[in-house]
Amino acid sequence: MLELEAAQQRILSALRPLGVESVSLPAAAGRYLAQAIHSPIDLPVFDNSAVDGYAVQAQDLAGASASHPLPLRCMGQVAAGEIFPRPITGGTCVRVFTGSTLPAGADAVVMQEDTRLEPAAPESVRFLDAPKPGEGIRRRGEDVRSGTLLAASGQRVTVGLTALLAAAGLSTLKVARQVTAGVLATGSELQESGQALRPGHIYESNRVALLALLSRAGVVARQYPLVPDTLEATRAALQQALAENDLVLSSGGASVGELDFLKAAFQAIGGQIDFWQVAIKPGKPFLFGRHGQKFLFGLPGNPVSALVSFILLVRPALDRLQGAREVSAPKRLGTLGETLSNPANRRHFVRVRIDATGTVWSAGAQTSHGLRSLAAADGLVEVPAQGALSAGTLVRVIGVNPDNC
Ligand code: AMP
Ligand code: MG
Repeated sequence: MLELEAAQQRILSALRPLGVESVSLPAAAGRYLAQAIHSPIDLPVFDNSAVDGYAVQAQDLAGASASHPLPLRCMGQVAAGEIFPRPITGGTCVRVFTGSTLPAGADAVVMQEDTRLEPAAPESVRFLDAPKPGEGIRRRGEDVRSGTLLAASGQRVTVGLTALLAAAGLSTLKVARQVTAGVLATGSELQESGQALRPGHIYESNRVALLALLSRAGVVARQYPLVPDTLEATRAALQQALAENDLVLSSGGASVGELDFLKAAFQAIGGQIDFWQVAIKPGKPFLFGRHGQKFLFGLPGNPVSALVSFILLVRPALDRLQGAREVSAPKRLGTLGETLSNPANRRHFVRVRIDATGTVWSAGAQTSHGLRSLAAADGLVEVPAQGALSAGTLVRVIGVNPDNC
């Protein structure tokens, strides 16, 4: 049985990004860059006013104050998008607005609130404050110099980054191609929702959770019909889903019972099992295999185990396939409010919730079929095999609701 890190490594080393495509900036948010981007221009593009006010030469206003206002003659105005035709000379000012190009000769902008207009002399502006040179001005290139690296290959395109790149004049980006994934659930006891349960049956719940997780990972996911526990049905379902997608996520049928057909069915269609079983709790009956250029992630049937193995083993793989440089699960720090113990001989990823103060509590009963604690959980805390973490310990919480952006 593989340790978690060995399993993660085996998966990641089998995967490469699937290709590159060009997408428009708004569609690129959440994707991973397949190119480094250097700014083609300075930002700000030109010196401009940070406020609504008056562009001046600071030396003209030395000593100006509320009790000793100084007047300057206003030569006109420059709206955002215009260029003022003449340079400012001594004793004059120009009306400007936020984003207006700074008129030549000006070295400061005084905000409107620090000025007063005399109705009797509308061309004369009285200044109640002495600006320092440079005040009220956004300098060309002070945010970004032309040629600066704005984003590296493999970096996630955040919403903020799309704004920066748009400001730099870009409209399309090269990003790694999105993964398509087929989602199967095996089990003759499973039933679709919306029908009365037949005796001995349960409603299927893994596909819905996996589809949501896949969509948050930026994957194009397709749901397939329920697969009864026969070799032939499992074989046919795997074959179809592998043919139609880059990879397949199945749940159930990967354990040791004689009605667990996943391994046999996968091998029957030419799939090669890379490994089976990982030394974690929950999530031990996990299978990773390859079928030509396609991949199978065989998740455990127990809903909690399926979700935990998705977070620990599948999500990093999806990120890598979709071009991410950094694939480790996001974690946040918290302090345990109670002791978490693990009598088992496998590392236990305990479902926890984090309260508003950052204190971490067990999310409830930790059975691998217990959905209530799954629904209550914000994350997972790893408790070592046959060990315990006592109340007050600083722990890293792996998020179970990873967001796309
Ligand atoms: P298996 O891994 O197929 O042995 O299933 C382990 C447990 O998980 C059994 O109790 C199954 O009934 C349950 N199970 C398997 N697949 C699902 C599913 N898709 N939704 C809900 N429960 C499931
Ligand atoms: Mg089953």
